[in-house]
Amino acid sequence: MYEHVASEHEVKALLSDAGVPVPRGVVVAGDLDFTAAGELAEPLVLKAFGPGLVHKSDAGAVVLGLRAADLAAAAAEMRSRLPGLAGFLVEEQADAGVELIVGVVRDVAFGPVLLAGLGGVWTEALRDTALGLCPISERDARRMLASLRGAPLLYGFRGTPPVDVDALVKLLMTVGGPGGLWERLELGEFELNPVIAGPSGVMAVDARYVPAEPGETAADRETADFSPLFEPKAVAVVGASTTRPNFGNMFLDFYKAAGIPLVAVHPEADAVAGVRAVPSLAHADVDYALVAVPAERCPDVLRQAAGVPFVQVMSGGFGEAGRADLEDELVEAARAAGTRLLGPNCMGVYCPRGRQTFVGGGLGPAGSVALISQSGGLAGEVIKVGEQRGLAFSRVVTVGNAADVAPAELLRWLATDPETGAVGLYLEDPRDGRELYEALRATDLPVVLLVGGRSGQGQEAAASHTGGMVSDRRIWETVAAQAGAALVSSQDDLIGVLAFFQAHGSRVTEGDGVLVVGPSGGASVLAADAFDAAGVRLDPLPGDVLEELRGLGVAATGNPLEVPVGPRGRAGLVAEVIDAIVRRRPCRDVVAHVNVQAFFTYGNAAEPLYAYTRALAGAQDGLPRTRITLVTRNGECAPAGVEDEVRRIAAAAGIPVYRTMEAASVAVAAGGRYGAA
Ligand code: ADP
Ligand code: MG
Repeated sequence: MYEHVASEHEVKALLSDAGVPVPRGVVVAGDLDFTAAGELAEPLVLKAFGPGLVHKSDAGAVVLGLRAADLAAAAAEMRSRLPGLAGFLVEEQADAGVELIVGVVRDVAFGPVLLAGLGGVWTEALRDTALGLCPISERDARRMLASLRGAPLLYGFRGTPPVDVDALVKLLMTVGGPGGLWERLELGEFELNPVIAGPSGVMAVDARYVPAEPGETAADRETADFSPLFEPKAVAVVGASTTRPNFGNMFLDFYKAAGIPLVAVHPEADAVAGVRAVPSLAHADVDYALVAVPAERCPDVLRQAAGVPFVQVMSGGFGEAGRADLEDELVEAARAAGTRLLGPNCMGVYCPRGRQTFVGGGLGPAGSVALISQSGGLAGEVIKVGEQRGLAFSRVVTVGNAADVAPAELLRWLATDPETGAVGLYLEDPRDGRELYEALRATDLPVVLLVGGRSGQGQEAAASHTGGMVSDRRIWETVAAQAGAALVSSQDDLIGVLAFFQAHGSRVTEGDGVLVVGPSGGASVLAADAFDAAGVRLDPLPGDVLEELRGLGVAATGNPLEVPVGPRGRAGLVAEVIDAIVRRRPCRDVVAHVNVQAFFTYGNAAEPLYAYTRALAGAQDGLPRTRITLVTRNGECAPAGVEDEVRRIAAAAGIPVYRTMEAASVAVAAGGRYGAA
């Protein structure tokens, strides 16, 4: 609606209407008659405008500190240097203050994103900025400002008075909040640089607006009932061969082993690999079909799928291989048949409860952990490694190219699924970023995000500073922070955080402190560093507990708290220490660590290690409002099977076990936002 708005004074008029303070000014075009500027209070600023003049200072098109009497000469000089100017803006010069940049860009996946940072001419050199997905809340605005490295400049630094932070927050809300300018402009890029913030107000002294091509918006659709996707009554496999075993045959074998009612689709045969066959999907009474025929033939198969609510296309050779046309045809065929399409280029679904699988080696235990993955291979690994580490899955779904069924819709459904207690997401390039963000915000479930390929994109040269500073990595950090999800950076941490959610998911915690207890000064120091890196504060112990600790024979007073644990020590000591501390000051999390190697350096001392773990399990049972986590350092020094037994004892009490402090600190940090009463 404001497509024509391009020059600074027009954008400023718009800002002023919206309630953003801008300098008083006059526009002088054509003749060099500056009489009107006599109304303005000196000192004055002279700025030129005209086609192609974007970064004015670079072109020498801004002069500060002028008197009214100097304007005509300064303008004539500018004109002689810069032919083709459309005119001049003369405005009052704002008092010096902290210069900020405030901008909005439209991210391809996530839509409008607000950026705020330290600005002025140093913006790109400082790169000290924070992001928020529009619309931001006032809390988001304050979080953004507080997260700047240069935040002390805003809150008062070395004798300079604090700036009017409330006015700054109001400006951020006017631009990026509910009903803000971001909504009214068909935003391309919108940038105020600088906004000058002083002790008694803020002022936008430069404004730029570069309209965008109208973007596409995703069509609204109601969330499907995904139950048959995960727990189909019967499954059809299209594409298994009677002569040359292929992927279709592999799936037939998986499904046979899982024991789900099964039919093969084959043009001629009556049976494939011992499974009854029908000539087309039209003859199959199933609610899930897996298609593994060459890409060109897939649309035809979909056209036969009327009455089958979900069809998974395993075959590749679509958009990911440069055949967007074929993918469109596939989606069309699915729509026409009234079926929902999973994939193409996707491994499918794993759900022990529903006898759904795409991995060999049988079904694992049914549980409460869900996973949505853009990569089938990675999902397979997370299932297998995760089950090895004690995870039990409710639903796993891989989406491949996500031509139809996409992560956001699945997440919304999982949030209503009584079997699911936590969700992991592995994403690379979600087509539905904005919807995913909305779905993340809407869910109360604990969610952990692993995003691949976050580096180096979205940084193409843009007409504004703002555009150049919004990278994919930073957007994901913002999405996670604003939606209250945990963001991790490895598969190991994805599994580790899910294990934490699984073990502690239902606990309602009290207090917000984190206590770390275990042997060895060095390990304790490194533990402090690991938790620091994960963003978790370890508060000092309450003073009134020290005497009781001394009574238990513990002389140390720090957090991490050094407490002897080993084959000869009293197995219950750590449990007593935890109990003494938590009773005085509730802690949301306690991390107990042991050096497994110490138990096995002098003979086989598995029993003391088990006794220690049992004592910890007892402590967890007695402290329902604290989450206990165990770290078994140097586990490789234990004989085979010992760690499994430790895990078993811990798991029975709902204690997750990690092999490194780093892994535990990431999980505890992720758990921090959930569980509070
Ligand atoms: P550019 O197109 O180079 O970004 P600006 O309009 O931002 O041009 O002006 C460059 C610098 O001049 C600003 O970063 C700011 O420090 C200063 N400036 C511009 N206008 C004013 C004003 N009205 N009051 C005070 N300082 C100003
Ligand atoms: Mg500027």
